[in-house]
Amino acid sequence: MPSPIAHSVSGYVLAKFLPQELSKYYPSRWWNWENFYPVFIAIFADFDFIPQLITGEIFHRGITHTLIFAIGLSLVFAWLISYFCKYSFKQIFLFTLVIYSSHLVLDFFTTTSGSGLQLFWPLTDTYFKSAIPIFPSVHHSKGLFDISHFIFISWELSYSVLIVSILWLWKNFRSSKFPE
Ligand SMILES: [Zn+2]
Repeated sequence: MPSPIAHSVSGYVLAKFLPQELSKYYPSRWWNWENFYPVFIAIFADFDFIPQLITGEIFHRGITHTLIFAIGLSLVFAWLISYFCKYSFKQIFLFTLVIYSSHLVLDFFTTTSGSGLQLFWPLTDTYFKSAIPIFPSVHHSKGLFDISHFIFISWELSYSVLIVSILWLWKNFRSSKFPE
């Protein structure tokens, strides 16, 4: 799996390309919904390390890394947000589903000593992973300060700089074509 660096930057950048109305509240602050919500959704799947810490059972990259969970969670969040904040259910649902799925895509493209993701569980128990990995995996077992982390951190930071630059170029392109 990539670390939260790649996941959160991907969620943040992806959100800027999607139609959304999350900026209705606190529109001009960096911690507004528009920025916070996609980052939260993009890293959500890896919160499964919490029950693993508590119980010692292996949960990581289990049910939270399946499509059925992505759809279920998007439905729940879309219902909650549209109910309490009067946003469009359909828009929040699709927005959440796309951002959440970006996590699964990134994990799919990671070199892993494990077997991959059971994306279509419970329909099939088959594990899926890309034959051509893009992200080096994070070796959690080596502790917080291991030299091997340098590789994934530099890789993920380069990836982050790349996609943020694409976003920046796109924004500039748009504002030159459609000045506000
Ligand atoms: Zn993950």
